[in-house]
Amino acid sequence: MDVKRVAILGGGTSGWLSAIFFKKVWPGLDITVIEDPKLPPIIAGESCTAPFVDLIDFLGVDIYDWIRKVDAFPKLGGKFVGWGPDNSTFTQPLFSSYRNRWDYYNTEFGNDNNLLKGMLAFDLPLKDITVSNYLLDKKMTPFTKDGHVVRPMYHFDSRKNAEYFKNVGLNLDIKLVLSKYKSCTKNHAGIEKLILEDQEVNADFFIDCSGFNQLLLRKELNATFTNYSNFFTATGVIAWWDESELKPYSNMIAMDYGWRFNIDLQSRSGNGYVYDTNLLTADQAKNEVETKLGKTVELVANAKWTPEMLLEPWQQNVIAIGLSSGFLEPLGSGGHTMIAMMLKLLSEMWNPCLETQVAAKKNFNTSYEKIVNDTVDFISLHYRNGRNDTEFWRKHLSPKSIPISLKEKLEHYRHGNFYDDGTAYSLENYCVVVQAYNLFDKKLLAKSLYHKDTNVKEKVTEEFNQLKKEIEYISRDCISTLDWKKLYD
Ligand SMILES: Cc1cc2nc3c(=O)[nH]c(=O)nc-3n(C[C@H](O)[C@H](O)[C@H](O)COP(=O)(O)OP(=O)(O)OC[C@H]3O[C@@H](n4cnc5c(N)ncnc54)[C@H](O)[C@@H]3O)c2cc1C
Repeated sequence: MDVKRVAILGGGTSGWLSAIFFKKVWPGLDITVIEDPKLPPIIAGESCTAPFVDLIDFLGVDIYDWIRKVDAFPKLGGKFVGWGPDNSTFTQPLFSSYRNRWDYYNTEFGNDNNLLKGMLAFDLPLKDITVSNYLLDKKMTPFTKDGHVVRPMYHFDSRKNAEYFKNVGLNLDIKLVLSKYKSCTKNHAGIEKLILEDQEVNADFFIDCSGFNQLLLRKELNATFTNYSNFFTATGVIAWWDESELKPYSNMIAMDYGWRFNIDLQSRSGNGYVYDTNLLTADQAKNEVETKLGKTVELVANAKWTPEMLLEPWQQNVIAIGLSSGFLEPLGSGGHTMIAMMLKLLSEMWNPCLETQVAAKKNFNTSYEKIVNDTVDFISLHYRNGRNDTEFWRKHLSPKSIPISLKEKLEHYRHGNFYDDGTAYSLENYCVVVQAYNLFDKKLLAKSLYHKDTNVKEKVTEEFNQLKKEIEYISRDCISTLDWKKLYD
């Protein structure tokens, strides 16, 4: 059946990004966004990863205009403070396109991620072969006077971000209906029309972007969600704002009952304590924060969730995108990544002129499942630090708390089998955590390399040192975060 009209329920970031994306890829579609004027977008989601920046780029948005209007600040990675052995800190840097340089050298080493393996085997920090780590430790940006040496990720104001994309959408012949959703009528295809407080909206295809209200897939089509409570026990957040220190990275600070984030925007910082709601109340969480910071904090948000994701986000003529498709927890900054990845999948698989959407739907749902599984594995990997000092950290020592797929990945890595399944997080991202937590056997790894070349340790070390020199050279004209901010004052 031809799709001519698309109705998007929800006017938060996921709703407007979907609307703009659909209009760009299929300009002939008639698109309507419905939002409840009394229910503003969520105050959450202020740190993104590279796929979201790719999406902004794809949409043709002027990134410098976006930076100005959403208070954005460059992010080059994350510091995990107190997560490592003996409460040590490790850095997860942005592995950027500069990586191509060392892919080339991997080929020389046997095209088997041998440089990566060698660095693990011979105790060479992976983060050190990234431009981003070199810059973030010096409070530098990847920008020079003429451009950038690597493209950063960003921190931004979530409400301003939603507002920004709404304004872009309103200039693109996308209809906006301000009304509250009440119910719907159904037909053989799925949903026929949405019944709002004061009008009805007919469409051929529906996008559920109704946030945590999860109005269409969960409430109307009774779609099944997979629960991940065994793996993720931090299911609540209290958030507050503070002054910005202009750090070009996110801080994730281990706490007694969860972890705290601290991310700098241009004009303020966003902070939150993501805590285990079975062990702590919001008041107790606030007390713990205030004791650790030695000052009072004023909350701007306070929320709880169940860590769950839709099994199949595309059912009949409805697709859920954004929080309506589920949420695990904020570690990994994955919300906007997921939106970007789902839209990209749709552009590859969906088509308004398809006579039948059966194959597209199947492929979409299968690809989505891989992204979810990878995200679950990657976030869960961070809890494999072996900490046993509080009940929260001890919960993560239980065998039940590790996904089977992650267990398998770690077993493969241990034996020197490194592979990138190319979904949400890269092999390098995984290896940084694996290296920080010593989740591999150096001798086994070294052994897996020696069949090629007996000088492998020398070669890997030489290449590592060469890359470090290059990074220093590439970054020589980069400007400090303070100078970068002055450009936007
Ligand atoms: C604690 C927390 C931390 C997060 N951290 C990150 C992060 O670091 N990085 C990241 O990328 N993402 C993060 N996310 C996810 C991110 O916030 C979301 O993916 C993003 O904001 C998109 O939200 P949304 O548009 O799906 O939902 P919302 O912003 O909630 O929008 C929902 C929309 O639905 C509309 N609506 C609801 N009910 C009705 C109704 N009855 N009738 C009409 N309209 C209705 C509302 O009006 C609103 O416009 C986080 C989320 C949470 C909860």
